[in-house]
Amino acid sequence: MKRLVIFILFIPLLTWPQENSIMATKFILGETEISIYEQKSQAPGNIVFVNVHEDETTSIETLYRYADIDSIHFFYLRHQWTRRIVFTMKGRNYDFDPNRIFTKKGRKKTLKDGANYSGKANKQVKKLAEAILNRLPEGHTVVAVHNNTDEEYSIKSYAEGGGEAENTKSVYINPDTDPDDFIYTTDSYFYEAFKKAGVNVILQDNKGYVNDGSLSVYCGKNEIPYINIETQKGHFDAQMRLMEQVLRVVRSRK
Ligand SMILES: [Zn+2]
Repeated sequence: MKRLVIFILFIPLLTWPQENSIMATKFILGETEISIYEQKSQAPGNIVFVNVHEDETTSIETLYRYADIDSIHFFYLRHQWTRRIVFTMKGRNYDFDPNRIFTKKGRKKTLKDGANYSGKANKQVKKLAEAILNRLPEGHTVVAVHNNTDEEYSIKSYAEGGGEAENTKSVYINPDTDPDDFIYTTDSYFYEAFKKAGVNVILQDNKGYVNDGSLSVYCGKNEIPYINIETQKGHFDAQMRLMEQVLRVVRSRK
């Protein structure tokens, strides 16, 4: 009888913090409501993980699964399960890529690439950019998680002659690994550490990059250490392994 009481008491204690640690914050764009889901932790290393492309589901799954085995701080956007966010304002629809909104130039271009453009819509999107940037605590390494599906886009895109070569300062390709699974960083310390570990890695040219308004451009400009873990969609194990490598490298940085 005593044993049964202990059992009943312990189950909620063990499960409660895990379920309760995700916090959803509402965010209004025009007349459309989206959410920011965030899980905080006091883990060592000062790292914040962020996903801004909601359709890149493997990376969100990785965050949740990794949070089961290690204490990590992460957040992601919740809207229409799409890459671009659609919102309505005064009867008009607007849409944009949430990883193109962190510079003035990028924000204007991505909105103009969508259904409509107005200065007022731009202001709404700017508020979202600020809400995301406010969630990156000072002194933290920002780790973005993405998935690619396009066979044309891989680490090879960053090598000489590739479509992304303009953004590259250095690139290391391990021929024994899948070129779709790689790390992109703004920080030469991280570049060297991943290269040494045999991980596909690109060092962003923090002066010559294309100002597309992405988080990597913002971090490069503002000297915020930034890492992007990019794997093919469905490469769950590869993304888990890269998460592990990233945590090891960032936490061991002197
Ligand atoms: Zn992405």
